[in-house]
Amino acid sequence: MRKIKIKDREIEYKIRRSRRAKNLRIAVYSDARVVVSLPWRMSESFAEKFIREKSSWILDKIFHFKKFGKTSLLRTGSRDDFLKNKKAASELAEERVKFYNRVYGFKYEKIAVKNQTTRWGSCSKKGNLNFNYRILFLPKPLADYLVVHELCHLKEFNHSKRFWDLVGKTIPEYNKIRKELKVL
Ligand SMILES: [Zn+2]
Repeated sequence: MRKIKIKDREIEYKIRRSRRAKNLRIAVYSDARVVVSLPWRMSESFAEKFIREKSSWILDKIFHFKKFGKTSLLRTGSRDDFLKNKKAASELAEERVKFYNRVYGFKYEKIAVKNQTTRWGSCSKKGNLNFNYRILFLPKPLADYLVVHELCHLKEFNHSKRFWDLVGKTIPEYNKIRKELKVL
């Protein structure tokens, strides 16, 4: 194990030499291990340089994995799992968006379901709503909150008080739910 100090944070990493690797690669695994694959003859100083360049990405990843852990519901599913559940997740998202939009009456474009690791949902400036297909596996109040959260971004593209007031219109207990989502 090697260590490198960046600002006030420390990144621990392992170097793996590979005869096949043509380029230097960094992987951050779900147990927060950082592994640098180095081509056979490349000097180790390149690994350190590369880590420094990518440090904010690496620290983000480590933070995410430490916070949510391996067992988190928020992680990338296998391609099979995604394909198997994609349709049901789309139907759920569409049904819940329609349900809550009876209150809000916002205009949106497309609703899509994706296999993304870092987020439960997103809302684009164009008015597309995206959800992680794993909302399907969440308890209903949590999935509903995520739907309402993205829906309200159609009106307020921020997390201002006005945004939270909009969310609170249909999910008054949103603060409690946000805490539950964080420990999942
Ligand atoms: Zn948001």
